[in-house]
Amino acid sequence: MKTIMVTGGAGFIGSNLVNYLLAQKTVQVVNLDKLTYAGNLESLAATSDDRNHIFVRGSVNDRALVMRLLEQYQPEAIIHLAAESHVDRSIDSPGDFIQTNIVGTFELLEASRAYWSRLSLPAQRRFRVLHVSTDEVYGSLGSEGYFSEETPFAPNSPYSASKAAADHLVRAYYHTYGLPVLTTNCSNNYGPCQFPEKLIPHMILSALADNPLPVYGDGKNIRDWLYVSDHCAALLTVLEKGDPGQVYNIGGNSEKTNLEVVQTICKLLDEMAPRPDSGSYSQQITFVKDRPGHDRRYAVDAAKLQRQMGWSPTETFITAIRKTVRWYLDNQEWCRHVCDGSYRGQRLGVLDEEAAK
Ligand code: NAD
Repeated sequence: MKTIMVTGGAGFIGSNLVNYLLAQKTVQVVNLDKLTYAGNLESLAATSDDRNHIFVRGSVNDRALVMRLLEQYQPEAIIHLAAESHVDRSIDSPGDFIQTNIVGTFELLEASRAYWSRLSLPAQRRFRVLHVSTDEVYGSLGSEGYFSEETPFAPNSPYSASKAAADHLVRAYYHTYGLPVLTTNCSNNYGPCQFPEKLIPHMILSALADNPLPVYGDGKNIRDWLYVSDHCAALLTVLEKGDPGQVYNIGGNSEKTNLEVVQTICKLLDEMAPRPDSGSYSQQITFVKDRPGHDRRYAVDAAKLQRQMGWSPTETFITAIRKTVRWYLDNQEWCRHVCDGSYRGQRLGVLDEEAAK
């Protein structure tokens, strides 16, 4: 049985990853999550009876707690997802992004370094810290070209700047201390359990509530979309086969304008949950003032991962957006609970921070 610490494992990607890892039946997961508004234990309901899931409510900024957990559970790897992740929130209140994404990553690195330095030589060789980052660190593209691992950083929002800072710290811990780190920079994810402030769930739920579907600017900003289970598979591939100190881009090879995404959702809802008046949900689309500093286009070149490790996405946008719409239609109670916070903090096989001391 292998032990992996996951930070941010009650969030969107984190909960999908924890469910994915536990389904393998060969991994014990120590899940450290602060349970901010974005962390929801209900996303982990399937694991509530799984003795291989140890949930700890606490912050990556709490170095003493992280060190205690590392000493107690002796993980072979840490997958670091804990973050403030919403660009719009980073514009309103960047302070939380600096604290969690930069300072939190620093504290995690320091705890990891202390733990790793005391491991036996074979255990040191096995140990990895995988830092999960975003393609947004590279800034914005014009109509041509792709982000490669060599693209210089040019972050444009407080969110992407805080992630870029964390990426630099992670790199420095490899070059300075030899800590065996890996970094992945991934494009936009979608799928089950994504907090309803993000584009895809926001549009699905607003459409069903007969609210306007607000598209920023002219709707022509382009993102590369990756289904979350493909991201989880890529992370585990990098963890297993990646070389310490290396950076790997992860992308869906699936560029869409925001307007295309919203129109696709409307078409699927027209088919799967027709409006009572039989009109199209696309009537609800409205164009609103653009986000400040809104990057025009992201597109990821994931050839390194494909070439070196044979990973490529298994889903296309068309197959996976259908699954995603279906999931939100079937899980409206989850949406209500995460929006009103009623499940946050509820005990579901939970070991709280006090109990972990
Ligand atoms: P999310 O906002 O859904 O989840 C973040 C989780 O981190 C939440 O459960 C939250 O409670 C937890 N958290 C926040 N601060 C914490 C702290 N100080 N200590 C411990 N836990 C804390 O985010 P997500 O969309 O699942 O993204 C996960 C990671 O993947 C982030 O690092 C993000 O930058 C990166 N990423 C996301 C995407 C995407 O499209 N969602 C794409 C590329 C990279």
